[in-house]
Amino acid sequence: MKNDILKKRANEIIKKLALEYPDSKPHLEFNNPFELLISTVLAAQCTDVRVNMTMPPLYKTKYKSPKDILKDGIDNFRQNIKSISFPNSKAKSIIALCRQLVDDFNGQVPKTMEELTKLTGVGRKSASVVLGNCFGKKDVIIVDTHFKRVTTRLGLTENDDPEKIEMDLKEIIPPDEQFKFSLRIGDHGRTICDAKKPKCAECMFNKSCPAAKL
Ligand code: SF4
Repeated sequence: MKNDILKKRANEIIKKLALEYPDSKPHLEFNNPFELLISTVLAAQCTDVRVNMTMPPLYKTKYKSPKDILKDGIDNFRQNIKSISFPNSKAKSIIALCRQLVDDFNGQVPKTMEELTKLTGVGRKSASVVLGNCFGKKDVIIVDTHFKRVTTRLGLTENDDPEKIEMDLKEIIPPDEQFKFSLRIGDHGRTICDAKKPKCAECMFNKSCPAAKL
C-alpha cells in the first residue's frame, strides 16, 4: 500500500521532471568509458567543474588508456591531479584500478555492475554513472549528494544509506526511467532544491513536497 502511494507520487514527479529537464546530461566531460570511469572516481568529494578543468587535457595528450597512466607512474599522476581533492589517495586508487583494467579486462572498462564494483575506488554510484552514460543501461539509479537530498525532501525515501536509497527508488521508479530520473533529479538539486537555500517558491513540486518551505 505504502509503495503504491509512493509509486503514484514518483510517477507525477517523473512526468514533471521530463518536461522541465528534457535534455539532462552528465556534468563530467568524457569521450569514452575509460575517461568517464577515471573522472568519476576523481570527482568523489570534489566538484565536476574541477575535474573537468584538469582531466580532459590530460586524456587528450597523455592518458588515452590505463596503460598510459601505469607507464607514467604514480608520482607523475599524483602531480598531474594535484588540483583535485585528495590527490594522494586518489592517485593510489587510480593506479590500482588501471592495473586491474589491464590485468583482468584486457585494458577495457567492463560493462556490468558486478565487474565494475570489483574495481578499486568504484562503488555502485560510479558504476551506475558509467553503465548509464556509456553502455546504455536505463535501469541504474545514481545516488549522489543531490539525488540523496532531493529524493529525501520529496519524501521518496526515509533511508540515509546510499545503497538503501538506491533500492528504495528502484522499487518505485520504472526500470526504463531510472537513469534519466537520476540525471533530472540531479539537475533539480543543482538549480532549485539547493542544499542550503532551496527555492521552494519557484519549485514545481512545492504543493506536494513534504519539505516545502513557503
Ligand atoms: S519544494 Fe523545496 S524542498 Fe521540496 S523539492 Fe522543491 S525546492 Fe526542494
